[in-house]
Amino acid sequence: MTAFSAPKGVPDYFPPTSATFLAVRDTLLGSARRAGYGYIELPVFEDTALFARGVGESTDVVTKEMYTFTDRGGRSITLRPEGTAGVMRAVIEHGLDKGQLPLKLAYAGQFFRAEQPQSGRYRQFHQVGVEAVGVDDPALDAEVIAVADEAFREMGLTGYRLELTSLGDSSDRPAYRERLQAFLAKLPLDDETRRRAGINPLRVLDDKRPEVRAMVEDAPLMRDHLSDASRAHYEQVKGYLDDLGVKFVENPRMVRGLDYYTKTCFEFVHDGLGAQSAIGGGGRYDGLMEQLGGQPLSGVGFGLGVDRSLLACQVEGVQPGDVSRCDVYGVPLGEAAKSRLVALSAPLRAAGVRYDLAYGGKGLKGAMKGADRSGARYALVLGERDIEAGVVQLKELATGDQREVPLVDVVISVREALGR
Ligand code: AMP
Repeated sequence: MTAFSAPKGVPDYFPPTSATFLAVRDTLLGSARRAGYGYIELPVFEDTALFARGVGESTDVVTKEMYTFTDRGGRSITLRPEGTAGVMRAVIEHGLDKGQLPLKLAYAGQFFRAEQPQSGRYRQFHQVGVEAVGVDDPALDAEVIAVADEAFREMGLTGYRLELTSLGDSSDRPAYRERLQAFLAKLPLDDETRRRAGINPLRVLDDKRPEVRAMVEDAPLMRDHLSDASRAHYEQVKGYLDDLGVKFVENPRMVRGLDYYTKTCFEFVHDGLGAQSAIGGGGRYDGLMEQLGGQPLSGVGFGLGVDRSLLACQVEGVQPGDVSRCDVYGVPLGEAAKSRLVALSAPLRAAGVRYDLAYGGKGLKGAMKGADRSGARYALVLGERDIEAGVVQLKELATGDQREVPLVDVVISVREALGR
């Protein structure tokens, strides 16, 4: 019988890497929580039409990458390719925008895109995202960006940069689009690129081929054609980022894969990751709520890649969080010792100590090996003579230092030793 393997392009995370995965995710969520974002948990599948309308009919995500199927009731269902459309759907459906604004929400979970898998690009990937709805204040754009930046720094990452631009809005973008299309129409582009220029000319600016890059070098840039209002907004975002101490570089050629962005647009790029270098991105999406049938409220948010942030940590050799599986490991020598060490599980764990012990009647050597592998700082070694004397040996695994502590005080002694 052939063994099963995971579907193509889908990562599994297991110990010890899974501990880093959780640390990365929790660091991203923790940063959002500290800025007042409330957690929202949403379904992984929605009506296909929500994404078609929300993400944009002409995007690669919608035309080529969605996992879409018909359910047993004949409805067209799609596994969520991104988070913002689902959050807006829930905000509108539950009237969450009727209270105090801005409404600030954070989410974490799996997303699905049928992309060609490669390093850092998966068909199921994980994002942490935030959305701030209902207040068109450039300080809020800067806050969203700072929440991401703080989280990356807290992980210990340094090898990334924040790229920033403004994509204008419904008042200045159409005129710019025409200007860019007129420029592109004069170039000797191949048919496929010409077609792309017709659907979304901005994408052509982001073409990676050197010959196309050379041709669009002098193309008009949105940044130079912003309306007064868009320009003022952009300048203020940059000012607030300075106030927050968040460093950025401007990239007027930035293109995002989702159509809903307006004004502020940003991406966090890590140079150690090869082709899939974006560890997160986001921006403002002022028309989206209304487009999905809600009030005409503005919004700004980000989606950060947990998988790629984890890869970035590995590339930089930084370790967010604690990857050890436990703090203390019990090493029983004999049956009586085993029952004592088993009984310690409840009080130690209740005191917040991560505790495991050697199961399966291993001898001293095997049990000590288990202790080392567990990543614990201390072993509790218990033999017959210790029981008679009412003590247990508390052994620091890194140094081999060992001291006797009274069995009745073991929880206090362990907490002291761990510095808690
Ligand atoms: P997007 O929703 O396209 O703006 O993506 C936001 C972030 O999610 C990106 O910067 C990546 O870090 C991550 N991401 C997007 N697509 C994938 C994928 N196929 N595999 C892994 N991470 C992804």
